[in-house]
Amino acid sequence: MKTIIIAGPCSAESNEQIDIAISEAKKRKVDFLRVNLWKPRTKPGFEGLKEEGIKLMINAARNGVNPATEVLTPGQADFVMKRVLSAAPQTKLLLWLGARNQNHFIQQEIAKLASRDKRVSLLVKNQPWTNEEHWEGIIEHVVKGGISKTVLINCHRGFSPIGKNPYGFRNSPDFEMAVRVRNKTKIPVVFDPSHAGGSVENVYRLARQAKIYALDGIMVEVHHDPKNALTDSKQQVTWSQFDDIIKEMGL
Ligand code: PEP
Ligand code: MN
Repeated sequence: MKTIIIAGPCSAESNEQIDIAISEAKKRKVDFLRVNLWKPRTKPGFEGLKEEGIKLMINAARNGVNPATEVLTPGQADFVMKRVLSAAPQTKLLLWLGARNQNHFIQQEIAKLASRDKRVSLLVKNQPWTNEEHWEGIIEHVVKGGISKTVLINCHRGFSPIGKNPYGFRNSPDFEMAVRVRNKTKIPVVFDPSHAGGSVENVYRLARQAKIYALDGIMVEVHHDPKNALTDSKQQVTWSQFDDIIKEMGL
């Protein structure tokens, strides 16, 4: 399977930030740039640029960098598809379903919308709690929604830790489960060391651990100035650290 590299900031914050991300992505092999418009938050805070940020996605797409965003509702998926694909017809677009979005009616509806255009891929993340059946169920629901397996990507972002957690992972990965789900579903699995690790040190540690499982790629948070990021500042790596992470994971 082809290696899939998805990188970029936790949230799209400003024109300047995404302009820098576009030029850094162009220097590297990045299949999709995170230009993420909606942020589900544990507690109220910056929730993303929302609809207003669409011009940043369009800017990436017009510059030959394929944009990616989480969508939480079919309305958001429809809005992003219409706006981005009409403004930059040559682009590819990645939509993703986040870990918290576990309403299967919504999962199916978003998959149905995504399936209407060949330029759109759909990534699904595992749910926050450990349960292999539920994770497989997400895949089954989106396939039921009509999305083709050829444009589906599965993302392992770890599970809420229970018990021993000596390195303080934000979400503990279960790489063996990820490999089993990959083998059963025949859908590529990328690893998200950012939401699993929760800190830059752990992002490096987990990229190193992931290497032996030879997964299909990575989704990683990268920011030109992580300290001043509006969300997930502790776990975002710089673009030069991104180059290390890719090597550590053997991609
Ligand atoms: C994200 O990738 O921006 C995110 C919120 O991750 P998760 O859904 O895995 O928590
Ligand atoms: Mn994040």
